[in-house]
Amino acid sequence: MQPASSPSLINLYDLPRAALGELLAGWGYSAFHRDALWEALYRQQLESIEALDGLLRPELVTLLRERACLRRPSVHHEAFSSDGYTHKLLLRLHDGQTIETVLMRFKGRATVCVSTQAGCAMGCVFCATGQMGLVRHLSPGEIVAQVLHVTRLLRESGESLRNIVLMGMGEPLHNYDGTLSAVDILVDQTGLAIGPRFITLSTVGVVPGIRRLADEERPVQLAVSLHGATDAERAALVPVGRRWPLDELMEACRYYSERRKRRIFFEWTLIAGRNDTPEQAHALGQLLRGMDAHVNVIPLNPTVGYGGAPSSTEAVRAFQDVLASYGLPSTVRQRRGIDIDAGCGQLKAAVERPRRPLPATP
Ligand code: SAH
Ligand code: SF4
Repeated sequence: MQPASSPSLINLYDLPRAALGELLAGWGYSAFHRDALWEALYRQQLESIEALDGLLRPELVTLLRERACLRRPSVHHEAFSSDGYTHKLLLRLHDGQTIETVLMRFKGRATVCVSTQAGCAMGCVFCATGQMGLVRHLSPGEIVAQVLHVTRLLRESGESLRNIVLMGMGEPLHNYDGTLSAVDILVDQTGLAIGPRFITLSTVGVVPGIRRLADEERPVQLAVSLHGATDAERAALVPVGRRWPLDELMEACRYYSERRKRRIFFEWTLIAGRNDTPEQAHALGQLLRGMDAHVNVIPLNPTVGYGGAPSSTEAVRAFQDVLASYGLPSTVRQRRGIDIDAGCGQLKAAVERPRRPLPATP
């Protein structure tokens, strides 16, 4: 048997149910066998091919041992926030890349924030992941395995997972196929069965990806990171704003709203004296006027590579008041786990380039 790191092995977690069926059909096995294997992977959540012994036909287990693997990441580092709600994991993939996964347990509703890429090519100036650059896309199985890792943790304490946010490291629409195949696996009713309304995909504003999402029946909620309501302001924080200016981005968002009849969430990282001004708030109000939109404001989580500071509570409130005057609802997203570098890409940055004491390992 080859080691699970061998690239020639098929990682079963990469395959949505239909693709798994095609693989098995090619080996002469019917949908009955596909369903038994699928159930073992996602209902029973068995963690190795060896554990399938006795559940599937012995010849099929032998074939799977020879040709397939279940690639699960290992824990490279982990940290718990002092409030106990946030558990941040730095997971190591089979090729040594590390990615972040964050489990948030709050009032019985667990949410996991998963990564879609190792690093990110988009270069947002305040983001620790952007400061690293892109290493590579994650495969569907590498995205699904993050969810399986936390469902196992939750099962140990009798809890279950409710929400998945594709807001970890990386830009999900830059890895469209990998991310959306993972979504297909996660929502499959005969497997993990995550409710489609409970998966949120956050994009920096990759216009072709938003249009493709609008045209395809993909079961996700869309969140668009804006951070600036004029092209100049936005491009200074989000360099891809130059490639897809606001008029193109907003046209794609309106197209999405009309096709999908869904509310869009807009994200706005508030940086003191930068994009928390009344002018920006009014410009944002005008930009989103008439849309079914909700704004999530996130006070900046300071990063080593960016000198900005989070907005004060008063500035956050004043910003929200202006939005409310345009009839725009908004929520302040809590920076839970700030003491453990729970911002995007920050734990990885702290562990691999430590410039100050690391957050505690349990
Ligand atoms: N690439 C996608 C999803 C990952 S980032 C996107 O940009 O939308 C998820 C969210 O975290 C984005 O809204 C991003 O702007 C925000 N974010 C990243 N770094 C941050 C920081 N240091 N402080 C506050 N929010 C941050
Ligand atoms: Fe990439 Fe999102 Fe970070 Fe921007 S904020 S660099 S798009 S992960």
